[in-house]
Amino acid sequence: MPFEQLLKSIPHKFTPEEQARLERALAFSKLAHEGQKRKSGEEYISHPIEAAIILGQIFPDATSLAAVLLHDVTEDTEKTLVDIKKEFGEEVAGLVDGVSKLGKVRLRNSKDPQYMETLRKMFIATSKDVRVMMIKLADRLHNIRTLAHLPEDKQTKIATETLEMYAPIAARLGINTWKDELEDLSFSIVDPTAFKQTHDLLTDEMAKRQGSIKSLEKELGHVLRTEGTKFIEISGRTKRVYSLYKKLMKNTGDISKIYDMYALRIMTKSTADCYAVLGAIHQHFHPLPGRIKDYISTPKPNGYQSLHTTVFDTTGSAFEIQIRTDLMHEEAERGVAAHWFYSQSGKVSNSVDSRLGWINELRNWQENTTNAEDFIESLKIDFFRDRIFVLTPKGDVKDLPSGATVIDFAFSVHSDLGYFMMGGKVNNKMVKLTHELEQGDVVEILKSKQPVKISRDWLAAAKTSNARSRIRQYLNEHDKGIIQRVRELKLKDFSLPTFFRKK
Ligand code: MN
Repeated sequence: MPFEQLLKSIPHKFTPEEQARLERALAFSKLAHEGQKRKSGEEYISHPIEAAIILGQIFPDATSLAAVLLHDVTEDTEKTLVDIKKEFGEEVAGLVDGVSKLGKVRLRNSKDPQYMETLRKMFIATSKDVRVMMIKLADRLHNIRTLAHLPEDKQTKIATETLEMYAPIAARLGINTWKDELEDLSFSIVDPTAFKQTHDLLTDEMAKRQGSIKSLEKELGHVLRTEGTKFIEISGRTKRVYSLYKKLMKNTGDISKIYDMYALRIMTKSTADCYAVLGAIHQHFHPLPGRIKDYISTPKPNGYQSLHTTVFDTTGSAFEIQIRTDLMHEEAERGVAAHWFYSQSGKVSNSVDSRLGWINELRNWQENTTNAEDFIESLKIDFFRDRIFVLTPKGDVKDLPSGATVIDFAFSVHSDLGYFMMGGKVNNKMVKLTHELEQGDVVEILKSKQPVKISRDWLAAAKTSNARSRIRQYLNEHDKGIIQRVRELKLKDFSLPTFFRKK
């Protein structure tokens, strides 16, 4: 794909400098991946390009787009991070590095929810910068769209990982368009039978309701116009297959309990108009008790805002109606990426700080970011200041305090590994055992056949109580051993009178 076409596929006006940088990134990546093919037979470069187009739809930030174009270069080609840093600067190199570290977080065969949570935390902590997560999600979305060319077992593995790890992260970042697509695509691969059943159920139900949807939409428009209530437009959305499936599972398969299979959406210009619309609707349609939800005054943890109500139409069937401003709608679709969009266009949402409750729990969100640079700065979050997450070569996650060293890592894997360790590798490079680990490091311990001699330095370098107590235990026994041996030696070497020996 020529550069001009890539540029046209992203709905954003880049500055001439940004354009030049993106063009260089594309050329650099093209050259580096030259001759490589995807499983589909396409040139490899098609993948970073498509991922860039995906990211560009919701987050057209030139630095992130340069990074997504380069995201597979360090893993799959001769070019290194140093080359990228030289060509594109520290920021782009940092993003590429983060993305390749994230790629090492793999889902193991475990259904333990605690494990899933650690894994997601690891994913987030490794990113540090929310842009890394967005790049990785765009990468995964393109991969899952083009999964058909892989062997079946690999497809299942990637789809499961996507459903369990990537989709929940997209949800937490509030990027619902991505979450929806990630979920439905991977669900159709993980459980094709359930997918088809749910899909058919949805299609049937929608066909049955088609007539009443049309008339309700008309009626609503009429009501709002005659009441003089301001609104931008009325539209509708059908529930997603995976989301319906999850709800059916909760409701023991009773489809009559699901009111939002189809929802009508009313968009307004202001929050006040949202409440006015709700009032007008309730005057004309009977609301279902207990189904009125005010997510404007109390947003969902991922920042979602809307008013929800469920009403009965004249035929007696229930429909959910969602009322929101155009800004709230933008945020519901793009989540965290929407803030960037607003800060660029000068439209700043009035409650940036309340938007990402979940992230807020983990750090102090910079309040009222007013320009794009501040916003980018605020994305560089150190979510888990006191913890680091590192990986074994097989991709198992170890959760350690920050400042932890190779020694802590070894003892966290197994005490035997600690007592037998003769060297350590971090990200494939030999390091000292006292080497401090960093977020996302892949750590490998070289084991000797014999127990090694542990020095007192280890105690100073160990941060975890587990490693420290193991080392102390060793040193104590070792000391006892020396005293014992000295005693024995003394007894042998000096021919003391026998009554002395008895003592
Ligand atoms: Mn990739």
